[in-house]
Amino acid sequence: MLQINRLVRARDYEGILSYAKEFHEHVCPYLILGIRASMIAMEELGVGRLDYGGSVDESILAIVENNSCFADGVQVTTGCTFGNNSLIYVDLGKIALTLVRRSDWQGVRVYIDGEKLEKYYTPETTELFDRVVKRREGTDEEVERLWQLWEETAKKMLYLPRREFKVERVKVEPIEHAPIFESVRCAKCGELVMATKVIYMEGKPFCLKCAGERYYAVTGSGIVEMRKDED
Ligand SMILES: [Zn+2]
Ligand SMILES: [Zn+2]
Repeated sequence: MLQINRLVRARDYEGILSYAKEFHEHVCPYLILGIRASMIAMEELGVGRLDYGGSVDESILAIVENNSCFADGVQVTTGCTFGNNSLIYVDLGKIALTLVRRSDWQGVRVYIDGEKLEKYYTPETTELFDRVVKRREGTDEEVERLWQLWEETAKKMLYLPRREFKVERVKVEPIEHAPIFESVRCAKCGELVMATKVIYMEGKPFCLKCAGERYYAVTGSGIVEMRKDED
């Protein structure tokens, strides 16, 4: 069994965090909130970490409403990732996770209100955060100090009481497993493209880029339309 599975099963928060730190490259409050929210949701729903090879009964799906550090905490803890098609990103800009059981589409949504967390930050952290992150004015020393404070603050949230979260039962509309589509070669760039992403012009297949069609990307701002002429 994977070490991370064992850590999640044992509710070993410190262990999960060290795994998450390697994946995410730093420790920050929202990474930890992603871990904590995942643990709450799994417990409430009575499911374990995603067993990719398991039966549908054990299969879960995670829906996140933002693409911040929180999403990495969720991916590590639940095992639902972008790559295994068990992570769905809904561009709502809220710090929330919905964990869903694929067998009956019952879910649990866990939301955290950022304002409720302010009491966990020291004034020095808040001040430094504003200067270094929001205004991008910090010196190297200040940046380093912020990371140190940030990690300390974050760790306080590892065992955040459940009452700090809004936890609700939800019923989710069934979402298909990732279908496997054939690939088609674009008549202009010669690259292979998933058949559903191809546009036919005068009988020839083109990728969205070569066809000059709209396509979308997930960026720090959420889901955005890419400029047609961008390369
Ligand atoms: Zn982070
Ligand atoms: Zn092309």
